[in-house]
Amino acid sequence: MNHEPRVGFVSLGCPKALVDSEQILTRLRAEGYGIAPTYPEADLVVVNTCGFIDAAVAESLDAIGEALAENGKVIVTGCLGAKGNVVRDLHPTVLAVTGPHACEEVMAAIHTHLPRPHDPFLDLVPPQGVKLTPRHYAYLKIAEGCNHRCTFCIIPQLRGDLVSRPVGEVLREAENLVRAGVRELLIVAQDTSAYGLDLRYRTGFWNGRPLKTHLTSLAAALGELGAWVRLHYVYPYPHVDELIPLMAEGRLLPYLDVPLQHASRRILKAMKRPANADDALTRIRRWREICPELTLRSTFIVGFPGETETDFEQLLEFLEAAELDRVGCFTYSPVEGAAANALPGPVPDEVKQERQARLMTLQAGISARRLRRKIGQTLKVLVDAHDEEGRAIARSSADTPEIDGVVLIEEGAVLPVGEFAEVRIVDADEHDLYAEMIAAKGDQPGIVHKRRRR
Ligand code: SF4
Repeated sequence: MNHEPRVGFVSLGCPKALVDSEQILTRLRAEGYGIAPTYPEADLVVVNTCGFIDAAVAESLDAIGEALAENGKVIVTGCLGAKGNVVRDLHPTVLAVTGPHACEEVMAAIHTHLPRPHDPFLDLVPPQGVKLTPRHYAYLKIAEGCNHRCTFCIIPQLRGDLVSRPVGEVLREAENLVRAGVRELLIVAQDTSAYGLDLRYRTGFWNGRPLKTHLTSLAAALGELGAWVRLHYVYPYPHVDELIPLMAEGRLLPYLDVPLQHASRRILKAMKRPANADDALTRIRRWREICPELTLRSTFIVGFPGETETDFEQLLEFLEAAELDRVGCFTYSPVEGAAANALPGPVPDEVKQERQARLMTLQAGISARRLRRKIGQTLKVLVDAHDEEGRAIARSSADTPEIDGVVLIEEGAVLPVGEFAEVRIVDADEHDLYAEMIAAKGDQPGIVHKRRRR
């Protein structure tokens, strides 16, 4: 081999899997491997898979098949890798299979099949590591695994119990990211609010300063770094109340992604969810009193085994009362190995679809109403890209990348990508806001990134 050994990388799955990919890519660059943009240019390909629902399993198996056909030397990692022999049964020629969050095992497999170069160029690696997101935002994973046992989910089987990262390590990574130009940190874990529980909230150190391994201390410290800090996958435990004043003070983005899944007490019990709808509603109302600009996002499952029309109507009533800003709704689909598969009362597919459509129609009206209230307001936005019509595609505190809506700014092509701007909202629909420019903030030129529109 007369060139640096090069690895191709296919990254599938959720933001947690994306962070795993970034860690592996960072290690590869640190050891002097090149990253190949195409199959033929790669000496070996790593496929990071998703195994959450059947469609994701099929997509992952297809991606492995394609990499084998186009390149032939394939290492598989990620959630599908943790599902027994699924990968090897269909693709027996893969070189190695690991589960998720297995950077060391993946690197060991790469070393076996593609020896590392002798003289690693450590200075080729940017201090923030290799990122798959645009330069101005980054996901920051603070823990891996989950202590809950929701009956529809196999993530604890795939990723194990909660393991929190040391608070100092998380903050050092965040500092490096911000120093490298990241303007927005997206905090993720399977259950972000449980951060530190496994370590008994022990005291760690950041720049010599003692800090508890707890979400409130971590979030407050992250809020000092000068970037937007957005929290995902936060369960409405009592201590989450402590975050709301930090949001009201502008130290964290006033945004919470709280996956509630249902509102019927019976269904939540069958799901083994750690919450109930009345508490959630009381808590949401209190949060909004403290921080009126709070944006709430949640996801729900309809058609869970045993869900009756009455259960479903309780969910609709909850949505009417809670007036969440952003809602995702999935129809229940049995995942191999999930405890819920054994529950009685499967809901027919057509009923699931019909309930999903009713929920989304109701929510579209609620979202549109809430977005309309923003017309006339001045908002700070972060510019992600430009479109062909000369507009800037940006996001406000209410919009997480790729999932929520955007703010489209007329004649915004002059606004640099990756910088903040102040805009006035002039119109709204169910999903997006439309704005005119007031002023641009920031002094660094950005890089134009193509943004995928839903
Ligand atoms: S909280 Fe429930 S749904 Fe979320 S990862 Fe844990 S077990 Fe799965």
